[in-house]
Amino acid sequence: MKEVALDVIIAGGGIIGSSIAWRLSQAGLRAAILDAGRLGAEASWAAAGMLAPGGEFEGSSPIHQFALANLRAYPAFVEELQSESGCSIDFQRFGAIEIAGSEAEWQRLAARAEIQAELGISASSMSPEQVRREAPLVNPEIAGAFFYPEDAVVNPREITHALSRACRERGVEIYEGVRVRAIRPETDSVLVMTDAGQFAAGWAVIAAGAWSSMITVEGCELARVFPVRGHLVGYSLEAETVGPIIRRGHSYLLQRAGGFTIAGSSTEDCGFRRDLDRAIITDIENRAAQMLPMLAERTTDTAWLGFRPATEREQPVIGPAAHPLVWLAYGHYRNGILMTPLTAARVASGITASSEMDCFGRSESH
Ligand SMILES: Cc1cc2nc3c(=O)[nH]c(=O)nc-3n(C[C@H](O)[C@H](O)[C@H](O)COP(=O)(O)OP(=O)(O)OC[C@H]3O[C@@H](n4cnc5c(N)ncnc54)[C@H](O)[C@@H]3O)c2cc1C
Repeated sequence: MKEVALDVIIAGGGIIGSSIAWRLSQAGLRAAILDAGRLGAEASWAAAGMLAPGGEFEGSSPIHQFALANLRAYPAFVEELQSESGCSIDFQRFGAIEIAGSEAEWQRLAARAEIQAELGISASSMSPEQVRREAPLVNPEIAGAFFYPEDAVVNPREITHALSRACRERGVEIYEGVRVRAIRPETDSVLVMTDAGQFAAGWAVIAAGAWSSMITVEGCELARVFPVRGHLVGYSLEAETVGPIIRRGHSYLLQRAGGFTIAGSSTEDCGFRRDLDRAIITDIENRAAQMLPMLAERTTDTAWLGFRPATEREQPVIGPAAHPLVWLAYGHYRNGILMTPLTAARVASGITASSEMDCFGRSESH
């Protein structure tokens, strides 16, 4: 291996890039994060933080097992990150109630729950009376509901904050406001071209969310990733008033431990436009008030948006690119917060294993 000051450069410091850097630094590798903006300030800042395979998977897909494994890995991931960083992270496992507004919706949910049981996602039916007992604020005019006991919620902003602190404490170099333009793999190292000059390292990881495929890698064609914009709105409510996540299709409500309550969301194909759309916010507010009628009396305190990193196959790209010194970790679309623990583990262990092989090869030749 050529002598370079850094083992791994990570392009992008969202939840994915930062968690990879954290795991690499734990393994003793010298890592740097280059972020075009600020760490954790894009999709990972915008996300609601539902860890809810129950609301996402309606049939077998190559990633549903990965999603479920991530959900199982979450408690240990949060505990380890809290103890390393000294930051507290709001992580709550209170399940999700998916409501059916009509008999037809109820039938659809029941059929879905049967398929999901085969996938390993458990759910049990609830009568309207049971919903009233468990979540008294939910609109009583429902046909029934399903309860997903394993679904959970985390505050993604607290995760990225903790990751940033844990990375800094382990010596990860962090460069904000540095956009990676291109990566040139050489025989035994990579050159990373940025707005702020050139960096060299043993490996590069592309984890730039919805911007990842704008980075060019000499000799490799990257799977296209594109932004799917989503709005969310927030209400200041009293703590412990909402209970479990409340869902109806892609409309949802969840409450942070302090009471801040988030309603979502929208799915928009409009590139990287950053202006809030009043009509979309009103639509989310109406859907939220439909689920929780008391919200009709409340005004939202804040609204925001972010760009989900989507791929044509609606699956993340995780692993080495056509060149083995360039790794990819992007395209997590609606589930990047959920899929963080094992994406980081997979990329970090792959790179660590090749670095150990390299050391072994070198020591043999001496
Ligand atoms: C409204 C909304 C709600 C969501 N809700 C959930 C949810 O409830 N649960 C869930 O699991 N997921 C959710 N998601 C999805 C989740 O937010 C994403 O999948 C996840 O945050 C992706 O993380 P990332 O690190 O890949 O991308 P990002 O967080 O977008 O980070 C990418 C980083 O790369 C940087 N960057 C960009 N270009 C370059 C470059 N050329 N060089 C260097 N750096 C660069 C950016 O500045 C940014 O910091 C939601 C997303 C949105 C928008």
